[in-house]
Amino acid sequence: MDEQRKEMLKKLPKIDEIILLLEKQDIYSLAPRDIVIATCRTVVQNLREKIIEAKEKDLPKFSLDLASAVGEVERLIKGLYRYSLRRVVNATGVILHTNLGRAPLCPEALQRIVEVGKSYSNLEFDLAKGERGQRYDHVSHLICTLTGAEDALIVNNNAAAVLLVLNTLAEGKEAIVSRGELIEIGGEFRIPEIMHKSASRLCEVGTTNRTRLSDYEKAINADTGLILKVHTSNFRIVGFTEEADIESLVALGKSRGIPVMDDLGSGCLIDLDLYGLQHEPTVREVLSTGVDVVTFSGDKLLGGPQAGIIVGKKDVLEKIKKNPLNRALRIDKFTLAALEATLMHYLNPAAAVKKLRSLKALTEPVAAVKKRALKLIAKLQKENFDSLKFSLHEDFAAAGGGSLPTQKIPTILVGIKNKKMAASRMEEKLRKLEVPVIVRVDKDEILLDLRTIAEDDFLFIIEGLKQVMSN
Ligand SMILES: *Cc1c(COP(=O)(O)O)cnc(C)c1O
Repeated sequence: MDEQRKEMLKKLPKIDEIILLLEKQDIYSLAPRDIVIATCRTVVQNLREKIIEAKEKDLPKFSLDLASAVGEVERLIKGLYRYSLRRVVNATGVILHTNLGRAPLCPEALQRIVEVGKSYSNLEFDLAKGERGQRYDHVSHLICTLTGAEDALIVNNNAAAVLLVLNTLAEGKEAIVSRGELIEIGGEFRIPEIMHKSASRLCEVGTTNRTRLSDYEKAINADTGLILKVHTSNFRIVGFTEEADIESLVALGKSRGIPVMDDLGSGCLIDLDLYGLQHEPTVREVLSTGVDVVTFSGDKLLGGPQAGIIVGKKDVLEKIKKNPLNRALRIDKFTLAALEATLMHYLNPAAAVKKLRSLKALTEPVAAVKKRALKLIAKLQKENFDSLKFSLHEDFAAAGGGSLPTQKIPTILVGIKNKKMAASRMEEKLRKLEVPVIVRVDKDEILLDLRTIAEDDFLFIIEGLKQVMSN
């Protein structure tokens, strides 16, 4: 090591001295002593590493004085009070954006979370009998009413639902799946891997683009535990394709005494055709084929909290409930409270598409989206941002979250060009705001998709732009 570096390391601020100064500033009102000490060590250690690793020309940049070290410790400790999980403005046009939390909850769901969370509840207490009850009973009746299922069970998410059902019905046995359905749903969820973890064996049949009923028939043997159909949520194979429909798989399963499962993924409860969207099989439709068990998510097309919903035949559900894994994958009371309120909206489907924000975004006529875009532009123009230019564009939004992958949803974008700043720089600044605004960028323009922006986001967009322009 060169002399300059050695000298600098000797002059590193001393931890005791940093602490002494911090104590004078009443640091312990912000964090206990052990956290303060650990943070001081981190700050000094980081400085030491940077000095060792820095290029020689950068060395003069490091300040070794006590005051800057104290300031850094303070900054880190104050940072502990900054919420990491925060609301953002989703201006991407991806309605069920998995990275942005999928479905926003309806006001009723939020109210129920507060109500149930702030006090004790009858979570696992049967009020009629005065004895222990089951937590998922609070929503199973509603789910059965809405889907025609005999019974329902709720777990942490749909990945957990699939794991639990596979493990219950096909542990140590084979589950037959079409090669065209061996999908990956982002975030490490791959059907073959989930199968492996469920201790069932994958029996692949058919080819990527064509699988016939006879392929399943031929694969059945004494070890077969389950026939599994998986909704190819996030992609479509088009052209020369063939798949066995759920009706014929159910008939095959019945004739051979093998249960049939359909992992629906999105789990739609309403007729999307009514709103000009492509047909997505509803849970009721799929169940009416006589399939033994269906799994779907709570926070995709359903528009509720993260949850995995398992519906189907009573005897099969009984077995699944008894699986010890069920306990490990169980749903919490806040999710149940939110799910119950979300499901209630479906008793009036026409109202549900207005009350549940993700469904509203999916089904809203483009004219209404345009109206909102014009309103936003009018508000932005009032602010007299001198280097910004606003424009309207027609484009397409997406359902996202692995739902309706080929559905083009017409939308309206507000484009923002900034004479003084590159669009990529602006994107970054908007992303780093206290209430981040997550936008699309195209060439040198920021694009805000009004399909995923609600009017109560306007304030954050306007204030955010003011901040971005002021520094
Ligand atoms: C999304 C999806 C899953 C995973 O559901 P999560 O609720 O995200 O765990 C499983 N299977 C299919 C077909 C899906 O589309």
